[in-house]
Amino acid sequence: MADEQLHILVSGACGRMGRFVAAGIAEAPDMQIVGAVDPAGQGRLLTEFVSSAPADITVSGHLVATLEESQPQIMVDFTAPAVVMGNIEAALDAGVACVVGTTGLSATDLQVVAKMCTSKQVPCLIAPNFSIGANMMMKFAAQAAEVFDYAEIIERHHEGKVDAPSGTALTTAEMMSAARRKPLQEVPTKHDKLPGSRGGVTDERLRIHSLRMPGYVANQEVVLGGTGEVLKIEHITTSRECFIPGVLLAIRKILQFEGLVYGLEKIL
Ligand code: NAP
Repeated sequence: MADEQLHILVSGACGRMGRFVAAGIAEAPDMQIVGAVDPAGQGRLLTEFVSSAPADITVSGHLVATLEESQPQIMVDFTAPAVVMGNIEAALDAGVACVVGTTGLSATDLQVVAKMCTSKQVPCLIAPNFSIGANMMMKFAAQAAEVFDYAEIIERHHEGKVDAPSGTALTTAEMMSAARRKPLQEVPTKHDKLPGSRGGVTDERLRIHSLRMPGYVANQEVVLGGTGEVLKIEHITTSRECFIPGVLLAIRKILQFEGLVYGLEKIL
């Protein structure tokens, strides 16, 4: 079985998500962690962060060197918006396919990644949300947006999330807009007493309200209003484990793809 296993490098392996991802990979019979990169754990054994990890993996602080030494087939990245583009470029340069969960990439960033994938002929899957339930929530929200004229999104995340609104909220807004093909109704804001109290507005004129506080992992509510009725589509996560089946699915499928694949729904 060992030779048939997919060889994976985990980037951001000591972070909140990276630890769950590394544990999921370590426990999957068809996968093997061959490298771990994270400046937060540099020089320490990966088992200090993930008890089920292989005993011989030392966390590195240098991605390029670790790509070279560990020869992975796939890099999984859960790091930070400021570093993820550099990590993707380094992996693609080394001929290593990418599965990326880090959020905060712009439309321009995605175009750059798509070009790199084409020129290097190496695939990359980027998903702002690897939870199966969240992807269903986005799909149902897009369907409901076809028939409701008013809609707003409330997303709630832990206090450590640095980007706002969430990548999931922005993707939901795009999917709702694409399904709807006409703008939502706007409610006048000229009498608002506090700037921003009605949330941020996307290009699709959809308002997003972002909460950041302890107690939440990653929740989202899409609220749609009609005459005499309100429809709420809500996704609640209770543990970061909810993202792992989607990440493992992406790892198992990525080598079958070409170019950039954006969104877990493309492979479900
Ligand atoms: P986190 O706890 O801050 O973990 C990120 C880790 O990456 C930290 O240990 C950080 O080290 C490390 N890091 C920083 N620069 C690095 C580099 N150049 N190479 C390798 N590792 C590096 O954050 P998190 O909560 O795990 O979230 C990580 C990302 O995943 C965020 O963008 C978040 O929004 C996203 N996310 C996505 C999904 C999804 O389903 N797509 C789900 C949850 C979270 P330092 O602390 O030293 O900087």
